[in-house]
Amino acid sequence: MNIILIGAPASGKGTQANLLAQKFDLLHISTGDMIRDIIRKDGQYSNELKNIIDSGELVPDNLIIDILKMYLNTVDSKKGILFDGFPRTVRQAEELEKIVDIDYVFEIEVSLETVIKRIEQRLICSGCGMSYNSSKHSGDICESCGGKIKKRTDDTQETVTVRYNNYCQSTYPVVKYFHDKSSYHQIDGEKSTDEVNDQICKIIGSK
Ligand code: ADP
Repeated sequence: MNIILIGAPASGKGTQANLLAQKFDLLHISTGDMIRDIIRKDGQYSNELKNIIDSGELVPDNLIIDILKMYLNTVDSKKGILFDGFPRTVRQAEELEKIVDIDYVFEIEVSLETVIKRIEQRLICSGCGMSYNSSKHSGDICESCGGKIKKRTDDTQETVTVRYNNYCQSTYPVVKYFHDKSSYHQIDGEKSTDEVNDQICKIIGSK
C-alpha cells in the first residue's frame, strides 16, 4: 500500500505520517526531513538546499526528484511507502507515478489562520524530527530520542506566507491532478490529531 499525504505547511502531514507508518508498517519518506538531513550532514548541495528552504521556496523539481530516486535506489524494503511532502508539483506527481502505484492520496485541508498559528507554536527535535507544540511542551529535550528541541530555521513569520503561497500556486494543482481519481480523499485537518487520524484510518479500513 502506497500513500501520499498532501497539505499546506504545518497541516499535520508529518504527525499523521508517523502514526500511519507505525500502524500500517510503511516506509515513511519525508522529503523535508531528507533535505534537512543532507544539510545537517553538510553533504553535496547542502548550502544550496539551506538557502532554498530558509527562504521558503521549493527545491527545484530536477534536484528533489534526483534526491528521491537516489534514496529509493538505496532502500531495500518490501514495505509500502508513505510519501510526506512529495509530490509538491504536478511534474513531481507525474514522475512519482512512473515509479510506484499510488493507492491513497489524502489531502489534509487547513486554513491559512491555522497554518500561521501552528507554525508560530511548532518546535521540532533536531535528532529525530518529532514535532512539538510550544504551548503544550516545556523543556528542550525530546521525549522520544533525547535530542534537542528547537524552532525550525524556516518556521518564521517571513517564510510562512511564501510557503503558503507556494502551496497554493504549485502544490494545489497536485490536488486537482489527483482529484478525480479513486485514490483521492479530502481530510479535515482542522480537527485534533486523533480525529484526523481516525478519518484516514476509516477510509483505509473501508476498502
Ligand atoms: P512543511 O510541510 O512544513 O513545509 P517540509 O518538511 O515538508 O515542511 O518541507 C520543508 C521545506 O523543504 C519546503 O518548504 C521546501 O523548501 C522543501 N521541500 C520539501 N519537499 C519538497 C518537494 N517535494 N519539492 C520541493 N521542495 C521541497
